[in-house]
Amino acid sequence: MKYTIAIDGPAGAGKSTIAKLLAKKLDILYLDTGAMYRAVGLKTIQEKIDIQDIVKIDAIIEDINIKVRYIDGKQHTFLDDVDVSQKIRTSEVSLAASNVAVIKSVRLKMVELQRSIAGDQSVVMDGRDIGTYVLPNAQFKFFITATAEERAKRRFLEMKENGEKNVDYDIILEDIKYRDKNDSNRSFAPLRKAEDAILVDTTELSVDEVLQKVLANMNA
Ligand code: C5P
Repeated sequence: MKYTIAIDGPAGAGKSTIAKLLAKKLDILYLDTGAMYRAVGLKTIQEKIDIQDIVKIDAIIEDINIKVRYIDGKQHTFLDDVDVSQKIRTSEVSLAASNVAVIKSVRLKMVELQRSIAGDQSVVMDGRDIGTYVLPNAQFKFFITATAEERAKRRFLEMKENGEKNVDYDIILEDIKYRDKNDSNRSFAPLRKAEDAILVDTTELSVDEVLQKVLANMNA
């Protein structure tokens, strides 16, 4: 059985947790598309490119070297042949990713890469525009969301658990709201629930409850 599963939703809603569990259960490829926008964000930081300088961004995006490899079943993201999987997880890179993701040339390039990585194999992809733009014919589409406050709370607890110091809930909430606004208001392929996507509000649900809900909808 071939699966194409699109999972979209705002930052911190739990998309990647569910996508990874689904990929494992169904033994299919998982592609975290956010990691690719993060790699572009990191590139602009490394090259000190002003986010408003569309000409420069258009130029670097044309031959940007982003690759995805799977090591022990886990996605690793490479920028210029360097594994940046850890480096792209900082708040600075989150912000840069959100800013470059509004640029059309960046999106076109990432979508081209995403479709070529998936090829015609079974895949679960998570992002913001998978059901609406990247895989409009996906067999299963989910839109996973939660209130901004709940998403900020989860992120806050996760960072604390990881031993990060100076974690501030209000700053995290502000960052989430900023990214929501950027993602929802851009003109090209904005964050939006596909008409045929199933909405899953995870605010009051545990990870297992979300997974069961998704699987029940897939009859899997
Ligand atoms: O999912 P993640 O938070 O890692 O994504 C980082 C940023 O990349 C998001 O804030 C969003 O702006 C952008 N993104 C996107 N389209 C996708 C995936 C991510 O615009 N398909």
